[in-house]
Amino acid sequence: MQNVAHSPARRNEGGRYSARSTWYDAIAQEQIARIEAMETQAAVSKLAQVVGDAVTALPEAAPRITKAATLVQARDVWPMTDGTFLVGSQSDTDAAYLVRRGPWTCECKAAQYQAGPCKHALAAMMTVKMGTMYQPIYN
Ligand SMILES: [Zn+2]
Repeated sequence: MQNVAHSPARRNEGGRYSARSTWYDAIAQEQIARIEAMETQAAVSKLAQVVGDAVTALPEAAPRITKAATLVQARDVWPMTDGTFLVGSQSDTDAAYLVRRGPWTCECKAAQYQAGPCKHALAAMMTVKMGTMYQPIYN
């Protein structure tokens, strides 16, 4: 985690804002940075809570839950309009797996041979619990 919350005053002294920026722009930038830092902290706390709940519910899946949390934090879980999710592959950055809910299924190989939900299904479940936090960025 970056120590963003403690640095705005110092960054300002460092001359980060060019002479072209008005004092108003500088203040607006600081406000945005402060709000983003607060949102990040709230998202990290919420994710820690969601991970804790998941490990409590499925202790045997703890390593997979950790990997799923990484996918959520990387904003690599894409809710689709039909209620399914596309979840990025951790081994192949160009690949994604389709996750369906109710019951949770995933098309990856691991989901076919292992007991319990795979990391992609876990990541989709955790994304639902995160609400609007860690939404993917659509370019
Ligand atoms: Zn999967």
